[in-house]
Amino acid sequence: MISNLALSVPKNSATEARRRDFSSSGLAGLLNKPLRPHLFFNTERLGPDVSLFTLFQMKLTIIGSGYVGLTTGACFAEVGHEVMCVDNDAKKIETLLRGEIPIYEPGLADLVTQNVAAGRLSFTTSTEKGVDHGDVVFIAVPTPPNPDGSVDLKFIEKVAREIAPCLKSYKVVVDKSTVPVKTGEKVAETIQRYAPEAEFDVVSNPEFLREGSAVADLMKPDRIVFGSNSDRASALMKKVYEPFVAPLLVTDINSAELIKHAANSFLALKISYINAISEICEASNADVELVAEGIGMDSRIGRSFLNAGLGYGGSCFPKDIAAFVAISDQLGVPFDLLKEVQKINRRQLDRFIERIREKLWVLGEKKIAVWGLTFKPNTDDLRCSVAVELVERLVAEGAEVTAYDPKGMGRIGELAVGSKIHLASSPEAAAKGAEALVIATEWPEFAHVDFRAVRDSMLAPMMFDGRNLLDPDTMRRHGFDYHGIGRGI
Ligand code: NAD
Repeated sequence: MISNLALSVPKNSATEARRRDFSSSGLAGLLNKPLRPHLFFNTERLGPDVSLFTLFQMKLTIIGSGYVGLTTGACFAEVGHEVMCVDNDAKKIETLLRGEIPIYEPGLADLVTQNVAAGRLSFTTSTEKGVDHGDVVFIAVPTPPNPDGSVDLKFIEKVAREIAPCLKSYKVVVDKSTVPVKTGEKVAETIQRYAPEAEFDVVSNPEFLREGSAVADLMKPDRIVFGSNSDRASALMKKVYEPFVAPLLVTDINSAELIKHAANSFLALKISYINAISEICEASNADVELVAEGIGMDSRIGRSFLNAGLGYGGSCFPKDIAAFVAISDQLGVPFDLLKEVQKINRRQLDRFIERIREKLWVLGEKKIAVWGLTFKPNTDDLRCSVAVELVERLVAEGAEVTAYDPKGMGRIGELAVGSKIHLASSPEAAAKGAEALVIATEWPEFAHVDFRAVRDSMLAPMMFDGRNLLDPDTMRRHGFDYHGIGRGI
């Protein structure tokens, strides 16, 4: 069933007041469009003294206040819901209670501050308090990979056990974490086992936000998907999402769970596809950027996710693709196509390092500047970052690495490699005295440095652009020996 949650578009003083309030959050800029057109109100339903917040307000709880949970909680609060975010990491909750934001995500700090001040967003370490508060309880805890690629569901199982004794009235328990198909059934079984009398329904509500643009993605999603086998739960879920204008797809639970893994796998496939093409481009002296442009102009294909580079990384794609491979193996329908996607992804970094070796011969004792540590721009997230893996491999070969990242340097100390590299205060400072400069993450600011000054400060002007961020001809004019991905030899 596909429906659209948009209500009719009215104008009254209350909506105007709300729109002014939205302007101060800076959200309009983030969403790159006029103030809050994602919220439309139905005047017919409003009496003169009816607060719009009351109209949409629901009591919601999010268990797990990380990248997904905190951002989702803040966005739900922003549209008027009363949200309590729970986390069992006491330090994280203390940080939030002090008014600090433990992660970097554009627009999130303002959103959290304003909604806490408005009394719509609160934080606790107590699952019991959280479950008491919400009519709908979202689970947004980690689903890390096991060594064999399958999903470690111990966090989900633990939350199910923790929720069970706290269920004193009917609740909808919503799984927002990315989980294997049939996890919803397991969550329901677990809750039932520990609380046989409890009244609840389990719903799957996969999350499609992208780190770096998570607030905009949540406020204006391409689509909202939830899987439910209960009309009562579906009605509440529709109310949760009523303030958002987006196509809504309601499915059964298993299909919703599969949609998330299938979507991420398809995006990873697009990345590996263009990376495979990049290898062919290198062998044939063609330019993968032009090839991507040419095929991306076909509306059936589209240009997005056709960016050749060091391959996909981050906390989602590698684990989700490995999980889908494991799930399909377990189901007896091996997904060999995805195994090839993984192989191509691994080969991309190997090929890049080989290229650096070809040029520098021996990496030991070479001074190498690395721009970028995060797995993508506009985040501080280093989880499964290909840039970090690249640095680790350079260090393992004896290179002396000096790195710069606009947001990721604060966290590099948490990783073993953090103590083995130098950190610089700017891209220019990282490049000073280097024998090679490597671009590992496509932060836009890396395209706007004074390249002549950078070249003059380097010991040798060798540049390896692992994200095809820069224009080869311009870099060569600046005097660099430029090497990109799939851009001929
Ligand atoms: P995260 O590690 O940033 O956050 C998870 C939080 O859950 C942590 O703060 C942790 O302390 C908390 N937690 C763990 N067990 C808990 C418990 N028993 N009670 C309360 N809190 C608990 O992880 P994330 O990146 O937000 O990802 C969460 C889920 O969402 C994963 O399944 C992930 O695959 C999925 N997802 C992530 C993204 C993304 O871009 N990060 C996008 C879509 C979906």
